[in-house]
Amino acid sequence: MTIRTTRARAALNEEALYAYLQAKQPPEHVELQQLREVTRTMPRGRMQIAPEQGHFLAVLARLIGARRTLEIGTFTGYSALAMALALPADGRIVACDVSDEWVGIGRPFWQRAGVADKIDVRIGPAIETIGQLEREGAAGSFDLAFIDADKENMDGYYEGALRLVKPGGLVILDNMLQGGRVIDPDNNDLRTHVVRDLNSKIAADERVDRVLVPIGDGMTLARRRG
Ligand code: CA
Repeated sequence: MTIRTTRARAALNEEALYAYLQAKQPPEHVELQQLREVTRTMPRGRMQIAPEQGHFLAVLARLIGARRTLEIGTFTGYSALAMALALPADGRIVACDVSDEWVGIGRPFWQRAGVADKIDVRIGPAIETIGQLEREGAAGSFDLAFIDADKENMDGYYEGALRLVKPGGLVILDNMLQGGRVIDPDNNDLRTHVVRDLNSKIAADERVDRVLVPIGDGMTLARRRG
């Protein structure tokens, strides 16, 4: 068997195994499934998380008993919907995005799923919204923060999220493997550079309990220590 054939088979197995992994997840809520389909056809549709990441976020939210959550980078609202469905009736998500148009796509799905009133949308640069929340006295009040926005500002989002979550609170960061670009020495675009630096920083960050998980495009979990 040639190297090429071996690689082709490995790729096929990977694809088949990924299909199996997806098939063995719990059923996706109908509104999540439909929102995913609508978003997938959009030009930037690849920005939404994979369904198994939605399940992962939901389980994490339940696991830590999250009520007050923050999302930085809502896009069309798939992850916000996945988390809102996992929160208790009095749970809330502050959902930050720069685009009212994107968030507007998700809103009817949130409404049909009966969770729209759990999601408090803040349109504007998330760094400013983080500052606003701190001025409102929200530092140390969130149970969970999910960061999935522009990578250029990710270090600032991480620091802001760490200030906003309570001790024991969980910060989750998406796209920490950058489609493999983090290990490409020839890739020096700003996004890859920022994520590489942040991965190194978090690996050594004693303020948090942390793990980089190979799900989706790589998700880091960082639990704020006391
Ligand atoms: Ca993402």
